[in-house]
Amino acid sequence: MTEYQMYIDGQWCDSSDGRTSHVINPATEEVIATVPMATAADTVRAIEAARRAHDSGVWSGLDPAQRSKILSDLLAKYQEVVAELGELESQNLGAPIALATMVFAGTAQNRLDWFAKAAARSFEQPMPMFRAPAAALPYIKRDPIGVCSQIVPWNAPLVQGIGSLAAPLAAGNAVVIKPATLTPCTMLEVMKLVDASDIPPGVVNLVTGSGPVVGELLASHPLVDKVTFTGSNEVGKRVLHLAADTIKNATMELGGKSANIFLDDVDIDLAVDAAMWGCFFNAGQICYTPSRALVHESMYDEFVEKIAAKTGRIRVGDPAAFDTQMGPLVSEAHRATVEKYIAIGQQEGARLVCGGGRPAGFDKGWYLEPTVFADVDNSMRIAREEIFGPVLCVIKYSSDEDALAIANDSDFGLMGAVWSPNVERAIDLGEKLRVGNVWINETHLMSLDLPYGGCKQSGIGRERGLDGFMNEYTEVKSIQVDLGHTRAQRYWYDLVVPE
Ligand code: NAD
Repeated sequence: MTEYQMYIDGQWCDSSDGRTSHVINPATEEVIATVPMATAADTVRAIEAARRAHDSGVWSGLDPAQRSKILSDLLAKYQEVVAELGELESQNLGAPIALATMVFAGTAQNRLDWFAKAAARSFEQPMPMFRAPAAALPYIKRDPIGVCSQIVPWNAPLVQGIGSLAAPLAAGNAVVIKPATLTPCTMLEVMKLVDASDIPPGVVNLVTGSGPVVGELLASHPLVDKVTFTGSNEVGKRVLHLAADTIKNATMELGGKSANIFLDDVDIDLAVDAAMWGCFFNAGQICYTPSRALVHESMYDEFVEKIAAKTGRIRVGDPAAFDTQMGPLVSEAHRATVEKYIAIGQQEGARLVCGGGRPAGFDKGWYLEPTVFADVDNSMRIAREEIFGPVLCVIKYSSDEDALAIANDSDFGLMGAVWSPNVERAIDLGEKLRVGNVWINETHLMSLDLPYGGCKQSGIGRERGLDGFMNEYTEVKSIQVDLGHTRAQRYWYDLVVPE
């Protein structure tokens, strides 16, 4: 068992009241680590350290190329331990080892790489725009925003954590990061790499602890300039309220109820596989999970029959085994929530065609069968609320317009996918989805060059890509220079200067 400390102002420390919490492996139910439960005073100390570091210019004042070099060195350190980080992620989250190492730890590495390069690329020089007639020079300079609070969820801790760390750092900000209480281990390991790097003390701080204590202070403290919250809608609303008191810049990355639309000309076996891959990846614990499969009436019955049979063959089991396709859910409480939704689906009259229970053969671990509901009406709660587990809702539609209307009839707007061999037709429909991210003939694509985020109640703002990076983590400063030096060159000369 590992006993972790927090990382504040370049120092490792316990909580000031000595309290800790257990981190549990969801497959074995064993305690794998303890982490400090920070107090309000600890959290304020981290915020103040970030403020001091930022205002001193030790990071914000560096030449962008130097910041890029330091982040590239951090990347090299990350690469040395990427396999171990993947294994630890699997133990802490319950994600299958293949997914945790090859997808999660690898994606996090790619994000760090992207931001290390972007750090140099986007701030090399101010951006001259045009020269106005009267010897005026207007231009834009982008400054770091300041102290950034980064509040991270439990479902993809390394990918979310590295993104939440590298983006603000690359733009010259100071950071206080709070991982989720359930899955803090990998980002605590990343702090060891930060500590061994040339990032000056105070620029990066990581505080472990509860949402109501640590998270609320990070969202509300007057010394914080910006809060990026990734998590549930319920907590996101609270964070926005707290941030409003001091008019903080806020980015909200919230939940989803995404649609996978299978048009009537798609290959049915591809559709079945794609719906399963989309929904059961990481046991459905992904914000944009396409948990609504919209299937044309001409292929609906066959689709339901095939997906019910195939989902029943998904290998649920020990995350440490390389042939496991789905591990346990992250916690006992979360499994109970997903089970509550399965009961709701049955009460609402949806047809349970696969799963719905706990798989046989496990006396430990928070396992749940991958579950498929057919005959789901889009008005049902299981089609409207984010379940965040391995529960797929299959919904029948009659025309492309009908599919579009059903997909858009949602409080969320994070992602939508359209499948058809007729790419033009799929794009035409995809572009009409009210979502932040559209996939055509694929799911789980995450281009580093594209901004990511949600419409409607899925969030505010976009992260990643040059757009997301610059807009979310820099402050635009408009500067206007009049190149004339004499009184007569003032444009207001005739108006206010008496002869
Ligand atoms: P959550 O909202 O419960 O917690 C998210 C973070 O907020 C955690 O660190 C938690 O400790 C903290 N928190 C809890 N209460 C708080 C409070 N009162 N004030 C401030 N912070 C508080 O979410 P979760 O269960 O950890 O994660 C699952 C949710 O995250 C899902 O809704 C999922 O869709 C969403 N998510 C969104 C994205 C995205 O990019 N849009 C990515 C991943 C996850």
